[in-house]
Amino acid sequence: MSEKSGGDFRYSVGESKVPWHAVGEFFDGSDALELVKFLLPDNGEADYAVKLANAAKALSELSDVAGRATKLTLGKKVADAEALACEYFGSKYACFTSNWTGGMEIAYKLAGISAGDEVIMPAVTFIATMAYPLSVGAKIVFADIDPETINLDPADLERKITPKTKMIVPVHLGGFPVDMDGVMAVARKHGIMVMEDAAHGMGGAYKGKKLGSIGDFGGFSLHEVKNINSLGEGGVLLTSDDAFGSQLAGGRFLGLDFTRKIKDWLYDISPLTARDGSIQVAQNHSATEIQALGLILQMKRLDKIIAIRRKAAEYMNGVLSEEKGILIEKSDTADTYGTHHLYLLRIDPKVVGGNIQQLAAKLAAKGLTNITHFGPMYRFKIMRDLGYNEHELAATCPRTEEMFYNSYTHLPLYPLTEEQLVYQAQAVVEAVRELKQGK
Ligand SMILES: *Cc1c(COP(=O)(O)O)cnc(C)c1O
Repeated sequence: MSEKSGGDFRYSVGESKVPWHAVGEFFDGSDALELVKFLLPDNGEADYAVKLANAAKALSELSDVAGRATKLTLGKKVADAEALACEYFGSKYACFTSNWTGGMEIAYKLAGISAGDEVIMPAVTFIATMAYPLSVGAKIVFADIDPETINLDPADLERKITPKTKMIVPVHLGGFPVDMDGVMAVARKHGIMVMEDAAHGMGGAYKGKKLGSIGDFGGFSLHEVKNINSLGEGGVLLTSDDAFGSQLAGGRFLGLDFTRKIKDWLYDISPLTARDGSIQVAQNHSATEIQALGLILQMKRLDKIIAIRRKAAEYMNGVLSEEKGILIEKSDTADTYGTHHLYLLRIDPKVVGGNIQQLAAKLAAKGLTNITHFGPMYRFKIMRDLGYNEHELAATCPRTEEMFYNSYTHLPLYPLTEEQLVYQAQAVVEAVRELKQGK
């Protein structure tokens, strides 16, 4: 390895004759070829083998004159991704993590969530939203949903507040902006912190503010099934609070802040100090440089992707609005700009003469993608095992119950070909007609 590309880069301890990076292995030209083959796999085209051989030769030649990537995690690309996130989302601080579940853990720790605290979230979300509070013995309280969007309903949120409520976690499900004015008003009135789970909401906006930038914390998943991804996994945590922001880097990696030089390895490692003054121990949620590169590349396409999704949603609305009993999804307004991560299909069971479970079976039979039906979290086995009473909780969320069993499901919007989109819309109309005819 030439000294030009070396130096003590991995652990920035200054110039040295025997570099620290010698403790780690590099990747070379043949590895680069494997990465190319992974991202651009053989799709059965006749000239793939020839073109791959050309690429292999070119990569081998390039490898002979190239340096080696010496910094693989928490380096400049991670910092660049975070700077881009701050600019795009209008937040003061951003932290790129291995995934959003890890990002949320940092926020929950900084909020001081611990045993006995209550965290309110919508009854319908993904299990990741409640994983950390459950793991420390905090109590999850479920708010009922707004039937138009399946998002947390601020009016029910207010009814669920108790003296133990420490955090409110609205989820922009499917990319529909939550009524954040309603949520923030309740939160401020009672002095409770808010974290937006915007796993589906990257790039969406509410009253001119980007989703994820409105609460005390907010953030996004870059898992491969979200609107954009960072090579499979990733998360971004945002805050504009200085006391929290200055601790994000430490929260990500065991209390160490690798964004600055570590002065003293014995004494420079601190625990996190939460809002309530409690001491919290950080875990490791580091993201790699190559994940950060993935995020930077896809961030550039985000607005374009949302525009395509929005058009697809409008097409679905146009076709479905013609059929009585189908409730089309809420369109964007001057105040709300959704990401159209999923299409929200709802029916009026009385008009249609059947419920969503029956309709879903018909849609599956017509070959439509069966997106896992987002269901009430209090129905999950894990909650029973933790001692939650599903029947009591169901009684506190009547609209969730009604809608889940009778009325809603989600459909994909992207990347669909025009033919697939047209087929999907038509199949929904046909399935609803069959239900009406009692077929
Ligand atoms: C995907 C998802 C998460 C978790 O994100 P990861 O990056 O997979 O950890 C959290 N909340 C919701 C609503 C999600 O859909």
